[in-house]
Amino acid sequence: MFEKILIANRGEIALRIQRACREMGIKTVAVHSEADAEAKYVRLADESVCIGPAPSAKSYLNVPALIAAAEVTDTEAIHPGYGFLSENADFAERVEQSGFVFIGPRPDTIRLMGDKVSAKDAMKAAGVPCVPGSEGALGEDTDEWLRLANDIGYPIIIKASGGGGGRGMRVVHTDAALIQSVQMTQNEAGAAFNNPTVYMEKYLQNPRHIEFQILADEHGNAVHLGERDCSMQRRHQKILEEAPAPGLEVKLRNKIGERCAEACRKIGYRGAGTFEFLYEDGEFYFIEMNTRVQVEHPVTELITGIDIVQETIRIAAGEKLSFKQKDIQFRGHAIECRINAEDPYTFVPSPGRVTIYHAPGGPGIRVDSHVFQNYYVSPHYDSMIGKLIAHGASREQAMARMRIALSEMIVEGIKTSIPLHQELLTDAGVLQGGMSIHYLEQKLAAKKG
Ligand code: ADP
Repeated sequence: MFEKILIANRGEIALRIQRACREMGIKTVAVHSEADAEAKYVRLADESVCIGPAPSAKSYLNVPALIAAAEVTDTEAIHPGYGFLSENADFAERVEQSGFVFIGPRPDTIRLMGDKVSAKDAMKAAGVPCVPGSEGALGEDTDEWLRLANDIGYPIIIKASGGGGGRGMRVVHTDAALIQSVQMTQNEAGAAFNNPTVYMEKYLQNPRHIEFQILADEHGNAVHLGERDCSMQRRHQKILEEAPAPGLEVKLRNKIGERCAEACRKIGYRGAGTFEFLYEDGEFYFIEMNTRVQVEHPVTELITGIDIVQETIRIAAGEKLSFKQKDIQFRGHAIECRINAEDPYTFVPSPGRVTIYHAPGGPGIRVDSHVFQNYYVSPHYDSMIGKLIAHGASREQAMARMRIALSEMIVEGIKTSIPLHQELLTDAGVLQGGMSIHYLEQKLAAKKG
């Protein structure tokens, strides 16, 4: 096992990874920007290195500074967390070339799955169900685009192969709009992602977002840890997640989960990963794979008892998975509320000083947050200040515990998404479960109108 790991991230995930390391007896190196010098995980780290000023481009995305920090601290491995450089194949390559272990998949796997066209091709070949659409990228023949769109049937969606974060997509409803829409998406993708390649898919009108968590080691073993329902979204960003997905049949879970695990064996995947699907009328459609630990990983940890972050470290150290698929048991239900520093209804960020902070507790409650009283929420970074996770024997119990936790939680001095979550946890559709990815925005629009 490693003796020392550098955590190339900040905020709650830096603290989460640090806790995993400390439990395993691994020393930690925290890297931080000038704005994060007083962070909790920086104080708790065995060593810390300032890697630059507040803007991410000069600190958390500063590859030479990160490599230099690993060198001066005699680090063995680097954990990228999520966001920042976690899905950057060039960074993973630089880490390995500099003699450190990258805690994640091989760089070529990150590259394969980071390009949506090659990812979809690989998944199709591995037997994972995908959204019907073009065979790979669209060519230059505009008549062919029209033929394809009519074969698939409108509405269709044009997606940039290099896209991400909900950008680089356009829905098209008619032949008349098609050609110009494809060309506009190509132009935007070229400018935004330096890659004008686009492809076409059927646009699913009322899907749920259901994703599968997998773990795979270097020795050809891969398991799935079940699914998460992340359909509650605003601006394509998840806000509330749960596991298992309400109403999903065990047989279908096992079938899709096993397909994902098999795909991992086929592509020689290593580490933790997530297969994201749209789910509509009982069918799963793969949309993309995330080659890293995800924000919402705790709900899976609570229902399986598996520490996903520790597993990523063990896998990177070359260990074999210590369990098989049949050993994985799903117990109860878990829900996560992302607590963001933002207006609960307009989603406008609300950085500033937290004047009062009180975290909830009690049976089945987990709080993953780096925030404390008098903490300053910087405008430079993502607005998420923590995650509240509730586990119960049943979905009802998990939700009841979440409602109590939300009522106990106090964050003053800034606006947070807590009031929105309180509303969601008493909303008829949310209580029923199984709502589509459009549910939250429709609900908010109805409220406004
Ligand atoms: P990104 O990498 O930008 O997150 P995704 O491929 O994961 O891109 O898609 C983001 C979101 O766009 C999905 O969660 C879904 O809301 C919507 N979307 C993508 N593809 C489709 C599709 N074929 N039909 C309907 N909605 C889609």
